[in-house]
Amino acid sequence: MGMIENLTVAEPVQGESLAERRLMLPAGVFDAAGRVHRCVRVRELTGADEEVLFERAYGNAYRVSAFLARAIESVDGLDADLDAGFAANMQLGDRDYLLLRLRQMDLGDAIHQIMRCAACLEKVDVDLLVSELPVRRMAEPQPTYRVQLAENELLLRLPTGADQAAIETLALANPATANTRLFARLVLDINGQGAPDEAAVQAWSLALRSQLAAWLEAHAPGPDLFLDLACPHCRADMSYAFDLDAFFLPSV
Ligand SMILES: [Zn+2]
Repeated sequence: MGMIENLTVAEPVQGESLAERRLMLPAGVFDAAGRVHRCVRVRELTGADEEVLFERAYGNAYRVSAFLARAIESVDGLDADLDAGFAANMQLGDRDYLLLRLRQMDLGDAIHQIMRCAACLEKVDVDLLVSELPVRRMAEPQPTYRVQLAENELLLRLPTGADQAAIETLALANPATANTRLFARLVLDINGQGAPDEAAVQAWSLALRSQLAAWLEAHAPGPDLFLDLACPHCRADMSYAFDLDAFFLPSV
C-alpha cells in the first residue's frame, strides 16, 4: 500500500480556541441590523448527536442542520433561537467549518482512509490532519454581493444549508435543473428587474449561468474539502471531495 499525506499548512485564527471550544466562522451570520457575528461556542458531542448526524431517513442538509443546532451553544453578540432553522440559514462554508472543527476536537485531528485506485486497483492509504485542510476566510463578509457577470448587474447572496436542502435531491437527477433552482434562490436582483423566477433563470445565456457558477465557486468561504491526490503506484488521478461521513466516522 502507498501513502499520501496532506502537506498544506494552515494558519492560526485570531480569537479561536479549540481548547475553549470557541470557533471563528469563515463567513459569519448576520443579525437584523446587518452586523456580522463570527464567534461560535460549541459543546462537547455525545452519542445522541452522532445518531442525529447519521439519521439516514433525512437528506444531508437537514441532518447537518439538526446536528449543528445541538452542537452550537451560543453565537457571541447574537440573541436568536439557535435551532435547526438557524443552522439551515448558515452559509455552507460556515457549516462545513463547524463540522470540520467538531470532528477535530471530539474525534481527533488525524483522518485515515483506505481508497482503491480505479485505474490499477491497488489499495492506497490516505492520511491527513483535519487541521491542515485549507480554509478560505472572508475578509469583509457581506449579507449580499453586487457583481457584474456577462454584461449583467446581479445582486446575490451566498448559498446556505436551506439552499442545499432545496436542491440536493434534484442535483442527483439533473445538475442543470438544480442550478436553475439554486440561482433563482440566490439572485435577489438582476439589472434592476428584481429577483428572477426559475423560468427567467432558464432563459439566461449559458455564459451568464457558467460565470455565476464560477463566481460562487471562487467566492465560497470555508474549508476546501477537495483533496488533490495521485495514485502512488500508477500516478492516476484519485482526487476527490471529502464528504460528511468521512469527517465523523472514527478512523480505524
Ligand atoms: Zn493506481
